[in-house]
Amino acid sequence: MATVTRGIVHIDEDKCTGCGLCVLPCAEGAIELVDGKAKVVKEELCDGAGFCLAVCPEGALTIEQREAPAFDEDAAAERTAAKLAAGAVMAQTCFACGRSEMDAPLLPVRTGGRSTWVCVKCLPQLIHG
Ligand code: SF4
Repeated sequence: MATVTRGIVHIDEDKCTGCGLCVLPCAEGAIELVDGKAKVVKEELCDGAGFCLAVCPEGALTIEQREAPAFDEDAAAERTAAKLAAGAVMAQTCFACGRSEMDAPLLPVRTGGRSTWVCVKCLPQLIHG
């Protein structure tokens, strides 16, 4: 498989406690828990967008630039569709209103010392008060 230099998730195993919080936010299903630690199971499924970074309470996730297989959009779409079909996608919710990601797009946010999600309907109130 051809490789390219690009951003891809790096997981610091020493910091990872295996809580699993980063698994569900990864729409592409690139991250799984293996032997109690988060792992990028297929590098071609990681688009390097970093949506998982904000939810890690340990700061174990970063984006690094390195040689890796190119992001495979088709494989990621297939994986996402399979997860949806299997009911293996647990919708995330907005910390402020409880709205599901199925009802409004969510963005990662740090608040009160924790990593969570805010919906686009609550974001303006968060920014402007
Ligand atoms: S959220 Fe962080 S600590 Fe939890 S499993 Fe993922 S990398 Fe490990």
